[in-house]
Amino acid sequence: MENNEIEKKLESKNVKPTAMRTLVYKTLAESGKALSLADLEQRFEKVERSTIFRALKTFEENFIVHPVVDGSGSVKYAVCDDDCTCNIHDLHVHFYCTRCGRTRCMKELPIPNIKLPEGYTYDNAQFIINGVCPRCD
Ligand SMILES: [Zn+2]
Ligand SMILES: [Zn+2]
Repeated sequence: MENNEIEKKLESKNVKPTAMRTLVYKTLAESGKALSLADLEQRFEKVERSTIFRALKTFEENFIVHPVVDGSGSVKYAVCDDDCTCNIHDLHVHFYCTRCGRTRCMKELPIPNIKLPEGYTYDNAQFIINGVCPRCD
């Protein structure tokens, strides 16, 4: 992904494209899987963890990335679709491969609309499927 493409993308979400943010976005977009803070930290050895974390939080607040809780013990982040507002209609299934540890967005599989008992409303939901991915099969 070209840097100017990323800069446009961030600007369209009202996020100032600093060098660090551009780099974090590029890494997430090109990895094709969800990455944790520790994964990102490993890739940018000289960058403070808190700097990466702040970039992720800014992205999360502006619907550029969404967090994924896959049961691996750390929260991972994946890029959102362009038109994502991270509301209940944008939520999708995530697949966690128990062999390679890759977590992939399955945007083609929306989370089924679950009817909650009366009085409950939901802000977020996580739907994780564990199994073996085609690479590991
Ligand atoms: Zn796998
Ligand atoms: Zn996802």
